[in-house]
Amino acid sequence: MPAALITGGSRGIGRGIAEQYARDGYDVAVNYHSSETAAEDVVETIRAETDGDAVAIQADVSDSGAVESLVETTVETFGGLDHVVNNAAISQHKHTPELTVEEFDTLMQINATSVFSVTKAAHEHLLESAVGEGPSVINLSSRLAHAGAPHEPHYAASKAGIIAITKSHAKEFGPDIRVNAIAPGYIVTDMTDRTNTAEDKRERREKLPLQRLGEPEDVGQAAAYLRDARFVTGETLNVNGGQDMV
Ligand code: NAP
Repeated sequence: MPAALITGGSRGIGRGIAEQYARDGYDVAVNYHSSETAAEDVVETIRAETDGDAVAIQADVSDSGAVESLVETTVETFGGLDHVVNNAAISQHKHTPELTVEEFDTLMQINATSVFSVTKAAHEHLLESAVGEGPSVINLSSRLAHAGAPHEPHYAASKAGIIAITKSHAKEFGPDIRVNAIAPGYIVTDMTDRTNTAEDKRERREKLPLQRLGEPEDVGQAAAYLRDARFVTGETLNVNGGQDMV
């Protein structure tokens, strides 16, 4: 069975993507940072509800040594690696006067540098993939990459950088590996629940043409499309309920 590595697969969008890939016939490495119980729950769900296998692997994606071990463990467990989803990230609501340079750098390491280091570690294994539609990398950006975020400039910068890494790797890896990004709008997860009230959510929902907020499964479906889309590379797919139409 082909194999996929999902960083930050323990919760939210990463969990939605992990379960989608498992339903589509992939073994899944579910990376997590600190939520071991949640990651093991994803593994149990995949084993119970699909024909695929799954494994939870702890690694801080901002640590390049840990990233190399993460990729090696995935390959040893499943005998290869066919798809990578760089999903792990943090958000941190702080305006510039309160935001330190160290906090800016730390978030960039977790959110953006990790996309480079995970893809770099996976590259040689993806080249060996014999999966039908060809190996792929999908990177989680955000609509804030385009819109900007006055309450978290470092987060917006990290997500804009991810689009540039996506295009660069799509060109560099050309015929061998397709590389695409997803820019979600508001998806209901721990990340958004932490900073939004029920009233915030109602206001956001009412402004959307689709009149509902996104669910992790919506992003899972988009990731499956990009994973299988044989003539699509270097693209950023907006998954935002119609919030921005440019
Ligand atoms: P979330 O609910 O906060 O989950 C974040 C995931 O990333 C968790 O699995 C977490 O692991 C993992 N993670 C965080 N730091 C890590 C680290 N240093 N090393 C390894 N794993 C780490 O976030 P989400 O809302 O699902 O977001 C997923 C992705 O979509 C992110 O890239 C985010 O920027 C992007 N996005 C989200 C939205 C939205 O509305 N939710 C919108 C646009 C873009 P633990 O469970 O172990 O902590």
